[in-house]
Amino acid sequence: MTFKPHGKHLIAGDWVAGEATFDSAPAHGPSHAYSLGTPDLVDRAVEAAEDAFAAYSATSREDRAAFLEAIADEIDARGADVTEIGTQESGLPSGRLEGERGRTVGQLRLFADHIRKGAYLDRREDAAQPDRAPAPRPAMVMVQRPIGPVAVFGASNFPLAFSTAGGDTAAALAAGCPVVVKGHSAHPGTGEIIAEAVRAAVERCGMPKGVFSLIQGGDRKVGQALVQHPLIKAVGFTGSLAGGRALFDLCAARPEPIPFFGELGSVNPMFVLSHAAEARAEEIAKGWAGSLTMGAGQFCTNPGIAVISDGPAADRFVAATAEALQDVSTQVMLTDGIADAYRDGRARVGEDAAVKAVTVGDSDGRNAAPALFETTATQFLANPALHEEVFGPLGLVVRARSADEIEQIARGLAGQLTVTLHMDDSDTDTAAALRPTLERKAGRLLVNGFPTGVEVVDSMVHGGPYPASTNFGATSVGTLAIRRFLRPVCYQNMPAALLPEDAIG
Ligand code: NAP
Repeated sequence: MTFKPHGKHLIAGDWVAGEATFDSAPAHGPSHAYSLGTPDLVDRAVEAAEDAFAAYSATSREDRAAFLEAIADEIDARGADVTEIGTQESGLPSGRLEGERGRTVGQLRLFADHIRKGAYLDRREDAAQPDRAPAPRPAMVMVQRPIGPVAVFGASNFPLAFSTAGGDTAAALAAGCPVVVKGHSAHPGTGEIIAEAVRAAVERCGMPKGVFSLIQGGDRKVGQALVQHPLIKAVGFTGSLAGGRALFDLCAARPEPIPFFGELGSVNPMFVLSHAAEARAEEIAKGWAGSLTMGAGQFCTNPGIAVISDGPAADRFVAATAEALQDVSTQVMLTDGIADAYRDGRARVGEDAAVKAVTVGDSDGRNAAPALFETTATQFLANPALHEEVFGPLGLVVRARSADEIEQIARGLAGQLTVTLHMDDSDTDTAAALRPTLERKAGRLLVNGFPTGVEVVDSMVHGGPYPASTNFGATSVGTLAIRRFLRPVCYQNMPAALLPEDAIG
């Protein structure tokens, strides 16, 4: 390996060592020491971000686009090292890390294109009406402006695409906001090499140095201090419901509350409608088993629940899913804590007396084996614990005895990132009746597909009502994600000489 982490924080272009350290816990390969983050270091990084804001927010869209592309190039230039440290820390296979790097640089380049086009500014203009009676109307122009320094928290399961230079960072930098990243303690070395790529791009493009900093974690006080810092104006977070909720509450309790864009977990229910089930129970089951176990089930879009009409087709569906899962070997999970949490979640589902274990593989340490359970709609509706995300390769089949039970399940769902319908043409009436309920529950509705695999495109919505996210009007993937870090400002009767460049038509 050519890349050897030095373990420091990046603050406004300088690598800074802390006093104490923590050791990384890679899935394989050597452990390294990393400087422990502190509230003082957070303060330095945020002050530098605020200092950089005036100059950075005044950069042209073209200059910011070139900066985003330079970050992408710098990441690609370190590709082999990124893959090596990323696979060591996360346990994910190298092919997955390479694919995720492609997605990460693709996001940066997509935002570069997006801001060049300028439509995201949503510029609106109302001409002056000096002769209007009884009172004249002044000229007004409205445009989206960057909000200020943004805090970013990545998730363990996407060490690149939802982390240091992932979607939140790309969107905030594109908007014109400096970023302070709280490094994830599950992948500090991956964070460091990506931060070095951003630092190199800052230098190459002559951007203000405070536009990007990375404070390594190792202590929860780091994230808490970051979201409570008075100069931070918004937070982009990807991670667990518990962590996201704790930080969201801190943001809401600040003297000046700020938006917390938390992308959290979801159980991503699938509804297998009766004609589709009868025609192709085995095929849907096979696809489900693949989606459920991809990446050891560690996807926020993992479809953990399948609702199906009870009967022979449901029996075939359960049997075919169990058979497909038996072919899946034990997989390494991202951290020891996530593996423990998976087993705890599995036990929580299994301890319900009305839930039947269909197949539950053995696993220990940092490993996970797939598990399949089944229950009735009545029991699912009665036990809220069955609606909670189990992060890992666990599926629960819910057998419904009537269309009314299916409708009740749909209505009782908490907010989801995705909901899927498996249907044939003959299921159209049932699906059409469900759609208005389902669209109130999820950010993305799919038909005859599987939700793992999120396209990074203009039309993507990766969000949803709470608890899928803390902000139902936003997405963390796709170009609309930039809107989270912008604020509309109306300039009334303002001479052109005072207007920001983007407000001039
Ligand atoms: P996590 O444990 O919540 O950690 C995310 C980040 O938040 C880490 O930096 C962590 O710090 C920090 N954090 C967590 N709790 C905190 C607290 N109480 N105070 C201060 N900081 C705190 O989540 P994860 O294990 O990385 O990610 C897995 C979860 O993310 C799953 O639930 C998955 O569904 C979800 N996810 C959602 C999406 C989405 O787009 N909706 C995408 C991917 C993953 P440390 O470094 O100290 O742990």
